[in-house]
Amino acid sequence: MEKKATSTKKENTSTKPKQQGGSEKTTKKSPVSDSLLEEFFHDGLKDIYWAEQHLVKTLPKMKKAASTQELQDAFEEHLQVTKTHVERLEQVFDLLGHKAQAKKCEAMEGLTKEGESIIEETEEGTATRDVGLIMAAQKVEHYEIATYGGLTTLAKTMGRDDIAAILHSTLEEEKAADISLTEIAENDVNYQASEEMEAH
Ligand code: ZN
Ligand code: FE
Ligand code: FE
Repeated sequence: MEKKATSTKKENTSTKPKQQGGSEKTTKKSPVSDSLLEEFFHDGLKDIYWAEQHLVKTLPKMKKAASTQELQDAFEEHLQVTKTHVERLEQVFDLLGHKAQAKKCEAMEGLTKEGESIIEETEEGTATRDVGLIMAAQKVEHYEIATYGGLTTLAKTMGRDDIAAILHSTLEEEKAADISLTEIAENDVNYQASEEMEAH
């Protein structure tokens, strides 16, 4: 569970989701009411929504810091994918009848700070920096994999296979990103970095 440290609680605990004007063609009520589990799920969505938006801002910095074209391309590609993840989450909020809302994810902030300190601590243009960037990015991917895995399972438990399917496609893309980072590390960067150490 997340700690709600401060007093800014404008959550919708008591207020029912407002009737937004617009596209309510099939007026089928969603089978999920505001159960405790749905509240918990909703909270998790806000957290990962913040995290994904934060990554949209952070990935360009990582791309800029990367030494090789290959890694720069990988970050660029994942930036585009991440924008899709943001949109999918907005879809999920919509399907739940909530407005999209972000709540700061302390974990993601910490992980990206770690990435930034790696940039500070390593030399520009070195494979060692790339090793560090890849590790930092993989920590991010693993956090996302854990989150989307959990949320997908929760959605199924709530009987929302429609939502589970959306989250699952993001889950698969996070896994793919993790695998391609491993490949970049194993194929080139790690070896080059080990050579760098010998040279010193
Ligand atoms: Zn993502
Ligand atoms: Fe979090
Ligand atoms: Fe990701």
